[in-house]
Amino acid sequence: MSGPRLEIDLGRIRHNACVLVERLGSLGIEVTGVTKAMLGSVEVARELMAAGVTSLGDSRIENIEAMRTAGLDGHMTLIRSPMLSQADRVVAHADASLNSELAVIEALSAAACHRGRVHAVVLMVELGDLREGILAGDLDDAVRATLALPGIVLRGIGTNLACQSGVTPDHRNMDELSRLADAIEERFAIALDVVSGGNSANLGWAFGPSPLGRVNNLRLGESILLGVEPLRRQCIDGLFTDAITLVAEVIEAKTKPTQPWGEINQTAFGSATAIDNSGPQLASTSRAIVGVGRQDVDADGLTPPKGFTILGASSDHLVLDAGRHLPVVGAEVRFGVDYSALLRAMTSPYVAKVYLTDKPGAWDPPANPQAAMRDRPDTAEAADGASLI
Ligand SMILES: *Cc1c(COP(=O)(O)O)cnc(C)c1O
Repeated sequence: MSGPRLEIDLGRIRHNACVLVERLGSLGIEVTGVTKAMLGSVEVARELMAAGVTSLGDSRIENIEAMRTAGLDGHMTLIRSPMLSQADRVVAHADASLNSELAVIEALSAAACHRGRVHAVVLMVELGDLREGILAGDLDDAVRATLALPGIVLRGIGTNLACQSGVTPDHRNMDELSRLADAIEERFAIALDVVSGGNSANLGWAFGPSPLGRVNNLRLGESILLGVEPLRRQCIDGLFTDAITLVAEVIEAKTKPTQPWGEINQTAFGSATAIDNSGPQLASTSRAIVGVGRQDVDADGLTPPKGFTILGASSDHLVLDAGRHLPVVGAEVRFGVDYSALLRAMTSPYVAKVYLTDKPGAWDPPANPQAAMRDRPDTAEAADGASLI
């Protein structure tokens, strides 16, 4: 294996998914497993299905198509409003989609009729985060129009918070969603199967003391993959926070002066380097460069191993203060990733994606004996997220 790689531990992802499916299931909430940060990875999707999610969700029709092509035949939901221009592909490959525009639902209806299929629609309601959603006052008209369309079945309503404005899911906005569901059922004499309360940011509310009302579905990505909730990025009890790590190789390791010299202007990515005269004036530090950069990862979202500090990143170089342990050229350094770092690394063609599975014989143990001895840390250790291997 050469070049930077994401190591994706499928057993840990399955564990995280199982725990959340079970805890939420006991509260009457089913889970849609969201694969978008994994680019619709078939390997991850299989683990989520095995863990008991009732549907897979992805924001890109391309990812859903790829999962279908790989033979996954479970229920799939497109969780971003379909593009008008993609309505036919959506009907062909997704069972359901989250919607907030009547013009799109009409196009889905036409495509569904054309294909002799029925497409399920969940109407998204705007509850304050100001991303997608129909305003509550316009919901009745949207329901009426949706119910009248052939080839379309209204499965329910949903909302999405904490993405655009960081609005926190709480008893106020969730109770409003429940009230809206009740009102629609009464006014139109229908039953809504799904009331989808939101994403990983809803977990604090779901596990808290508030009554859950009508909410019976959450769409979970980050919490399953990274073991954290997105509002304060706190670790979720009992979940692995290191199911996915980034491994990159040292390409330079030297003891260098602590401060740059020469006239200082802007760096490759903007602001001038501030010369730091605060701490003790060391003459030199051990600096290591690893062969990964902003084209591959969001450096702000990496957690370096203990004793290492990230000093900066340019397109292709990540510069580390290596503290007292200057690694050798060729050594590998393992980083924890946050959601932003994960998304960019998954999307970079330069970062290999390596799946680890605990099925015997399914993967070769790493040649480096230290790496092979890497124990499954318990959750507390896993929170550190990173180690030098
Ligand atoms: C991304 C997304 C999710 C999943 O969000 P996580 O924070 O990763 O759990 C759920 N719903 C919608 C509409 C999304 O766009």
